[in-house]
Amino acid sequence: MNIDKIEDIAKRRGFFWRSSELYGGISGLYDYAHLGKLIKRKLENLWRAYFLGLDENFYEIETPYIVHANALKASGHVDSFVDPIAKCKKCGATERADHIIEDQLKESFEGSTAEELTEIIKKHNIRCPKCKGILESVGTLNMMFPIEIGANAETKAYLLPETAQGAYLNFPREFECLRKKMPIGLAIIGRAYRNEISPRNALIRMREFTQAELQIFFDPDKINEHPCFADVEDYKLRIFPVANREKKHIDEITCKELVKRLPKFYVYHMAMIQKFYLDILKIPRDKFRFKELSDEEKAFYNKYHWDIELEIDIGFKEVAGVHYRTDHDLKGHEKVSKQDMSVFVDDKKFVPHVLELSFGIDRNIYAMLVLFYEEEKERAVFRFPGSVSPYDAAVFPLVSKDELPEKACEIKKMLRSLGFTVFYDESGSIGRRYRRMDEIGVPASITVDHQTLKDSTVTLRDRDSMKQVRINIKDLCMNLRKFLDGEELSKLGKAV
Ligand code: AMP
Repeated sequence: MNIDKIEDIAKRRGFFWRSSELYGGISGLYDYAHLGKLIKRKLENLWRAYFLGLDENFYEIETPYIVHANALKASGHVDSFVDPIAKCKKCGATERADHIIEDQLKESFEGSTAEELTEIIKKHNIRCPKCKGILESVGTLNMMFPIEIGANAETKAYLLPETAQGAYLNFPREFECLRKKMPIGLAIIGRAYRNEISPRNALIRMREFTQAELQIFFDPDKINEHPCFADVEDYKLRIFPVANREKKHIDEITCKELVKRLPKFYVYHMAMIQKFYLDILKIPRDKFRFKELSDEEKAFYNKYHWDIELEIDIGFKEVAGVHYRTDHDLKGHEKVSKQDMSVFVDDKKFVPHVLELSFGIDRNIYAMLVLFYEEEKERAVFRFPGSVSPYDAAVFPLVSKDELPEKACEIKKMLRSLGFTVFYDESGSIGRRYRRMDEIGVPASITVDHQTLKDSTVTLRDRDSMKQVRINIKDLCMNLRKFLDGEELSKLGKAV
């Protein structure tokens, strides 16, 4: 399935579409439509519950999207958050230099310097993709959106390019409030803004997107320990180290083995991330890997940097990252703000180090749309797991008469009151209504029929197998929960 097809399906069914479409749209900006927003909210809540649950001292905070220019000077974004650009001498079109090269040579050059890219363009005689004109030497463009605040633009600021900075700015106060304990985790689910030169691939490269990031502040002397490491030591991670690039081989290696080359604190969190993807989002194992970034590719402040990649229509694509940012950010803020960022814990004074778990919510949603979509002979279906499907279940009266709608509404209300998200519809043939649920990925359909009025049972239809069982209404909530958690349909009731 390619990008155009996904965009088309997303538009027709109501997942997402281009923003400001009435006025021609702006590339890199998308609106989430009603179904997309339901999925997004579920994914954010799952992320929140799972990652904040990793430690008693992990909390969510919220900060404005407009941030003081000095904060981004301190973080290095003002000077270094740039993309390489190539301008055509003939038509003036400007695009990301590494993307132009990548499109023509079919190889990634992300992380190369402007000088290196200029050399490659010369060597391979790479021309403007629009008019075949000659390209100027590669330059750079800062990706942040500057903002001026006040009637006389007295305060200079930027739109946040990553949520992470909000957590660093709040660290000193939170450390005091949270009774000076280490580690501390500060999570932010919020927007990030980047003036991408060539936004593309729908939700993959946007100009405004949502990140879910957890900054874990810890004592660097304790990087080789984690109190729960024993729980994961035999757990196998799927890793793609730099050394495996040529033979394109993914290793399956236990955490115990991996700590020979990476710190325990880092590996423990890799394991928890992989479990999130495989056990909760139900991503097929062979579509998941951790990719190690080379020294040229990783951000200069990251000591260890592995991306989480999912294999979608355009190959393996980064959807998240585990970044050991050392004390780079806190030291940067200390220098520019002149405020001491050190803490005094366990009889010693130190500036905490940071492990960042960074996720792009939109890229993960895009990947799930691609990975869970299937076209069968008679139907198209999104096989979303219950954890991220737009609704948990649909409730239908078989026909819209004979008091079936009243009974169905009662069931709908009961399920909603218990926290299930439920879609209700009483128009059209039942077959058509089932198909519509398959097309938007609702895992369960509950139907009220004439038998319901006699014996208080309903049918539960499984989207994937299209099989049905009869269930007593009094057991419906428990059985629906079990079904959404992956229990086999045949164990929940009598086959219909
Ligand atoms: P970064 O701060 O560049 O490491 O990005 C962290 C995460 O944000 C990535 O793993 C992506 O999932 C997501 N991300 C970064 N840039 C974009 C973008 N332009 N559009 C959508 N998601 C992005």
